[in-house]
Amino acid sequence: MIVLATSPLIRSRPIGPSQREYANGAVLVETRLDPPALLDALQAIEIRFGRKRQGQRWRSRTLDLDVVLWSGGCWSDDRLTVPHSELRNRAFVLGPVAAIAPCWRDPVTGFTIKQLAYRLKTGLTARPTPPR
Ligand code: ATP
Ligand code: MG
Ligand code: MG
Repeated sequence: MIVLATSPLIRSRPIGPSQREYANGAVLVETRLDPPALLDALQAIEIRFGRKRQGQRWRSRTLDLDVVLWSGGCWSDDRLTVPHSELRNRAFVLGPVAAIAPCWRDPVTGFTIKQLAYRLKTGLTARPTPPR
């Protein structure tokens, strides 16, 4: 895996019950691994950093490595959804990604990362309409 670009880190308040603040960043990597094999590699790194995977989602953790985008477009199986399903709703993801890949186009919405960041900031993000 070759790291081609790294973003600056930004701080964010946690989602869910965790009390800590997080440092968020994005890296652009080149790899021959397909998305599931890349997820395996990322989870092995999380474990090396002391992350325990059992238990509730969004607990305090030492490291969370997600696959946000893939040059192959979309991937979906029972373990993995790429682009990351929350990409468009998370400023702490869009901000760092915009620093290294502002013109990368989200294959689902057709917007670039820069456009998605602007839309989230200005409240233009298309969120699912709640049922009546
Ligand atoms: P969130 O999805 O809100 O960012 P999380 O990253 O805290 O949650 P984890 O506990 O790290 O959640 O991962 C839960 C599961 O999410 C993983 O075991 C993995 O199978 C699945 N998953 C689905 N899509 C992705 C993705 N794009 N990147 C990483 N994990 C994913
Ligand atoms: Mg995550
Ligand atoms: Mg994760």
